[in-house]
Amino acid sequence: MNIILLGPPGAGKGTQAGLLEDKFDMAQLSTGDMLRAAVKAQTEVGKKAKAVMDAGELVSDEIVSGIIGDRLDELGPNKGIIFDGYPRTAAQAHSLDEILSKRGRTLNHVIELSVDEDALVDRITGRYACTSCNEGYHDRHKKPSKEGVCDICGNSAFKRRPDDNEETVRTRMEEYRGKTAPILPIYEDRNIVSRVDGMGDINEVADALNAILS
Ligand code: ADP
Ligand code: ADP
Ligand code: ZN
Repeated sequence: MNIILLGPPGAGKGTQAGLLEDKFDMAQLSTGDMLRAAVKAQTEVGKKAKAVMDAGELVSDEIVSGIIGDRLDELGPNKGIIFDGYPRTAAQAHSLDEILSKRGRTLNHVIELSVDEDALVDRITGRYACTSCNEGYHDRHKKPSKEGVCDICGNSAFKRRPDDNEETVRTRMEEYRGKTAPILPIYEDRNIVSRVDGMGDINEVADALNAILS
């Protein structure tokens, strides 16, 4: 099974992809996570991407489609994939078709998570993650069960993303509205789009996704 989670910044794609990974034994491919790792490692890709990401704009289609193809080859043919944050433009959607067909994979579902704009800003400005295992948390909606200690790995250091501020979020939402939402009709024509109300709590959204995928 290969699926795309589509939705504006902060909609809950990463959170839900993490839950699906465990439940369906799939692999989450997040271009955002891969790009942040490249920035941290100061690779050529990271150097090109950093300023663009800090501004909330989109990194070039060539770069992101390149890293997706590379990661798929590392994973081999047997794992189902959850694409999280890719594709984000029509050009990336076309590249993904090629990338998948070359590897004998097909796309089974495109799931759009919809969340009100005010809730997105609230989710993004409260987001943080474990510096060690990258588990995501939220100041109000998903606190670690023991304050200051990661539930998953026991680490006690956390990080916030430099682009998770209200001003950059507005640019990222514009990019979503202008470039990403318009790719949905490509998949609607194939009858593989489902829409999920992302306004519920994390478990409610997870139940809605499970109902589509089971
Ligand atoms: P969010 O889910 O909060 O929107 P991501 O972690 O998916 O954030 O992406 C963070 C940033 O990384 C984006 O604002 C963009 O600059 C870059 N990025 C991630 N994925 C892509 C992509 N598929 N195409 C272009 N840029 C991307
Ligand atoms: P995305 O990958 O779409 O940018 P995330 O999964 O990182 O979004 O979620 C953004 C923030 O909102 C995180 O801090 C996460 O813990 C929190 N969050 C995710 N889903 C929900 C939800 N259904 N209700 C409330 N907060 C949520
Ligand atoms: Zn951790």
